[in-house]
Amino acid sequence: MALDADLFEQLRQTVRRFVRERLVPLEAEIALADNIPVEIRQEMRDLGLFGLSIPQEYGGLGLTMEEEVHIAFELGHTSPAFRSVIGTNNGIGSQGLIMDGTEEQKSAYLPKLATGEIISSFALTEPGAGSDAASLRTTARRDGEEYILNGTKRFITNAPYADLFTVFARTGTGDKPGRDVTAFLVERSAPGLSLGKIDKKMGQAGSHTCDVIFEDCRVPASSVLGGREGQGFKTAMKVLDRGRLHISAFCVGMAERLIADSLAYAMQRKQFGQPIAEFQLIQAMLADSRAESYAARCMVLETARAKDQGGNVSTEAACCKMFASEMVGRVADRAVQIHGGAGYMEEYGIERAYRDVRLFRIYEGTTQIQQILIARNMIKEAAAAA
Ligand SMILES: Cc1cc2nc3c(=O)[nH]c(=O)nc-3n(C[C@H](O)[C@H](O)[C@H](O)COP(=O)(O)OP(=O)(O)OC[C@H]3O[C@@H](n4cnc5c(N)ncnc54)[C@H](O)[C@@H]3O)c2cc1C
Repeated sequence: MALDADLFEQLRQTVRRFVRERLVPLEAEIALADNIPVEIRQEMRDLGLFGLSIPQEYGGLGLTMEEEVHIAFELGHTSPAFRSVIGTNNGIGSQGLIMDGTEEQKSAYLPKLATGEIISSFALTEPGAGSDAASLRTTARRDGEEYILNGTKRFITNAPYADLFTVFARTGTGDKPGRDVTAFLVERSAPGLSLGKIDKKMGQAGSHTCDVIFEDCRVPASSVLGGREGQGFKTAMKVLDRGRLHISAFCVGMAERLIADSLAYAMQRKQFGQPIAEFQLIQAMLADSRAESYAARCMVLETARAKDQGGNVSTEAACCKMFASEMVGRVADRAVQIHGGAGYMEEYGIERAYRDVRLFRIYEGTTQIQQILIARNMIKEAAAAA
């Protein structure tokens, strides 16, 4: 259910102020410390940011997709590590539960996820199963009123702090890739669950991933998401489908920030006796970035509205993820170029953004996987129309 328009505008303005006045000044410090302070996490809780997409009946704000992408545009104006704090509770860590959980499971976890009292993670990727997620090898064997999980999940965002994991494991023999995958809601305290060491990454310092290891990990049979085996792969694909729009919107916000920083720099930096913004070759870079980020903004909004109206936007969401994540990569590259040597230096923060945005082309489905998805849907549609 959409918020009242005035209420939503108030929320948007509050998030905008929080991002620009509170978070932006902390960017360099957070990157250096590779840590987001507890008080910032608490302020995010106080603002209700953990429950943006969680339905109101479970204590969240229940934003529509269009409202959510507007908030993601705002969050994009600062380091992605901040978004990551609330990212899994709003996205991949809660959406499986919202879409396919039983009433009992929803009431047990969603209110705590909405307030940020607990943190959730989405554990699909494995050492041998990334883009080809259906080939996952983690197993879950039924043993009376329990399941026993064995396997390793890799690169799991927020796993070092997570209280709840949505874990995808094979409950069948593996001869039907995808169809015998079941999703489990596994609490951190489950016996046999352990964490690997925190991964050292290229960017997004302050946001953390690690392995999640299951060694004869016992969970009650009631942990099966939705109560039915074999539905896990479908759930995972639906969750990722939705997440693509949020990530795309965040890419738009980051591109807009980088363009604003580049323009401000170009207007004050003088060479050959004039601001570099007067040079047409610099103007071309600014204009290309502006046009491309505007295109991505329009795509994301149009797709979000169509989703809110109940349409199947699988192809369009993949188009958004592919275009917006590649677009912000180009914008960040131009931002470094416009800043010249300063763009390469840590002090200006541009090189950090350049590294930070690289991830968007990789996780929640690489660019190549989006291309495959888009083309496959095109062929399917054409065949159905023939
Ligand atoms: C920082 C970070 C956070 C992450 N967070 C999570 C998380 O919270 N939960 C989770 O489950 N996963 C997470 N992941 C994993 C992420 O989703 C995967 O890394 C991603 O899906 C790619 O899988 P892979 O790394 O195994 O690469 P691979 O699948 O091995 O791909 C390698 C290359 O091959 C290409 N490729 C693969 N298949 C094809 C094909 N059929 N045609 C053409 N090209 C192809 C890919 O596009 C890529 O360029 C995270 C990853 C990172 C880096």
